[in-house]
This record gives sequence, structure tokens and C-alpha cells, in this order.
Amino acid sequence: MCYIGRFAPSPSGPLHFGSLVTALGSYLQAKSCRGKWLVRIEDIDPPREVKGAATAILTTLEALNLYWDGEILYQSTCSKRYRAVLQSLLDKQQAYYCDCTRQRIHHLPSGLYDGFCRNRHLNQTSQQQLAIRLKQNQPIYQFTDKIRGLQNVDTANAQEDFIIHRKDDLFAYNLVVVLDDNEQGITEIVRGADLLPVTAKQISLYQLLGLPVPTYCHLPLVLDNNDNKLSKQNHATPIELNNLKTLTVQALQFLGQVIPENWQDANQMQLLDWAIKHWDITNVPKQNSRLSTNIG
Ligand code: GLU
Repeated sequence: MCYIGRFAPSPSGPLHFGSLVTALGSYLQAKSCRGKWLVRIEDIDPPREVKGAATAILTTLEALNLYWDGEILYQSTCSKRYRAVLQSLLDKQQAYYCDCTRQRIHHLPSGLYDGFCRNRHLNQTSQQQLAIRLKQNQPIYQFTDKIRGLQNVDTANAQEDFIIHRKDDLFAYNLVVVLDDNEQGITEIVRGADLLPVTAKQISLYQLLGLPVPTYCHLPLVLDNNDNKLSKQNHATPIELNNLKTLTVQALQFLGQVIPENWQDANQMQLLDWAIKHWDITNVPKQNSRLSTNIG
């Protein structure tokens, strides 16, 4: 089977060092498997979108020589396909409407949704917009990550009826990520470890829909000085286009890869070619960490 990987940024800000690590790791894993590397813009959340961010991300990827295969998929163009799946889940009573407030769920002992609306048979009215939850009848309690090994999932978390369509009429990430990874034929998902906690939910959705489950590799997160994940929300410094080779070398080091001795003499394309040839996923650290700044 042909390997198809992807990078799926949300356009909520420009690429920063943490997203560079994810882009590079997914690219090298795909290319070292002689596979395709696709890019998908996850623009399903207009309130969190930053104008111009999608273009800025793509420009940075090109400047890094991280060229994607095929057409870019923009999630904002796929509503019709998502809606059909949502409707079919509702028709088969595999999903239900829910009017619970975030506050009510927050006050529950587990802080997780308790299935309160499962048998209330609520219907959408013009007055009130409701969320839609998946009836979690096939929870996933364990899965294997290629980098981090066997992952055990907290029981209550695995069993939670999670949201697949939001009250503000937006499709939920956990639904569309599965639909699109399947639509694009993705065979392996390489992404940041911040998404480990939702992976079991996504696997359960593949199984419910009868879709082939991809393999998973969760890359370490880059932490800031307060040990928070570098993120667009935390205003991580955007990647500077004049420093790309050094940043690429730092990202390779962060991913536990060997660096060519003469990297200063290589251009970005030669550096990437070298990195593809020497990529070894078994060297990728299992722990998140801060960035050490010394490069040899
Ligand atoms: N769009 C998500 C992000 O930018 C990544 C989703 C995924 O890789 O599954 O954090």
C-alpha cells in the first residue's frame, strides 16, 4: 500500500517553531517511506481564524522547500460532505442533539459529559441551536502510537459522548479530521502529541463508520520556558524566513535526528534530501521538551 501522510494546520496564526517540527516530521516520515505528503488547511473555525494565516503558512512551507503533493484541501469547502455524514449518524440514531451548557458539564464530578441528553430525543428548533454528540457505544481503551508505544485511555474519557457538531453551527474537529483523513486516503497520521488525548475518540469514529484506521505517530511538543506548548494562541514567535536553514537544523535535532557535519555549506534542498535519507522515526523522543539552542 502506498504511504500517504499529511500536515493539517489550522489557520489561526503563522507557522511557529512547534508547527515547523510537526510539518518537518510528517514530511520526512512520508518522504522516507517514498510516500505522498498532503497539506490540508483546517479552516472550519472562523472565529479562531486569522486573516492571511493560511497563505502565510503555505508561503513558509514553500520557503522551507516542504512542497506538498496534489491539491490543498480546504475544509471550509467541504460542508456538504460533512453534513451528509452528520445527517446519516442522526438518522441511524448514532448521534443525538444536546442542549447541555458547558457550565453544567464543568460542574459534573468527572468534568466529562454524562450522556444526559442521550434519550431525551431533542430536536433542533429555529429558536435554539443545539450541539450534536456521538453515541459512544464502541469506546477505544487502548491504541498503539508508533513513537510512544501502547497508550491506555482513561475509561471515562473513552466512553464520553463527544461533540461532532457544535452549538454555534460549526463542525467539530474530531468529526471532520476523521472524514478528511479518510477522504484523502491518509495511511499514517504524524502530528503533535497535544492530540494524543483525542486519538481514541477519532479511532472509535473510524470504526463506527466502517473506515480503515490509519497508524499514528505523535511527535514531541516544543515547550516554552513555562513548560507550556508553543502555540499560536500563546503567541509563539512566527518563523522568520531569513533563518530557515538554522531552524530546520534545530527542528531536526529536536526530533532526535543526526545532523550533517557540513550543514552550513548545504542549501535547504540538500539539507532536506539528507534528512530524508537519514530519517529514523525510532530516534524521535517520546517526551515533550524545551528547545535547547546549541547547534553543532
Ligand atoms: N489542525 C490541527 C492543528 O493545527 C491539527 C489536526 C491534526 O493534525 O489532526 O493543531
